[in-house]
Amino acid sequence: MIFWRALRRVGVAFVLLLAIAGALGAIYFDHLFPFDLAREPGFTTKFHLSRLKDDPARCMAALDRADVNYVRVPPLEREEGCGYADAVRLQNSSVNYGGGVSLRCPAMLALLLWERHVLLPAAQRHFDQKPASIHHLGTYACRPIAGRSGRRLSQHAFANAIDIASVTLGGETVSVLHDWDDAGVKGQFLRELRAGACGIFSAVLSPDYNAAHANHFHFDLGRWSVCR
Ligand SMILES: [Zn+2]
Repeated sequence: MIFWRALRRVGVAFVLLLAIAGALGAIYFDHLFPFDLAREPGFTTKFHLSRLKDDPARCMAALDRADVNYVRVPPLEREEGCGYADAVRLQNSSVNYGGGVSLRCPAMLALLLWERHVLLPAAQRHFDQKPASIHHLGTYACRPIAGRSGRRLSQHAFANAIDIASVTLGGETVSVLHDWDDAGVKGQFLRELRAGACGIFSAVLSPDYNAAHANHFHFDLGRWSVCR
């Protein structure tokens, strides 16, 4: 009897200890495994990015370690609830985004992961070259989802999303609008870009989602998880 009671106590203590270790591990995840842009996205990537949302200093340290050329963007707070406190502007990268891209730091890390581990290898594989530029339709915009009043704010309202319309390689442009349904290499390339984004961003919307996304991919790092 005493033996079983003691065993139960040990069991409870062990479970408690595990729970505490788990909670601490989650809080200090980036201390244990510092975010590395050179590392292939894996099953901890989304969790890691979500942890960095609460720790802008460690997020920017990850950009610094990877020698990313960026500047901090002054915080913005608007009455409508839009704004951000930890945004950065990318000054330049291996791909030209047509002027600086500004995003919250974790979303910037996600975009750079996608650029390095999804876009570049796919461009090499399908076209045997480096993409020259990306045409995007914007990151920050203080608006509700789909621009309809009454709906909750879009992740664009927090500089937590980017809309990508096309990629230009070797003088040729592959666009979501014109090439999504292409049965050849351009269509394959675009579908790979979406599939790779789904392993990094929380929400990835393409023309398969709805007509509003016929001409672009929407990538964001909000709470809603979708890949379509
Ligand atoms: Zn969007």
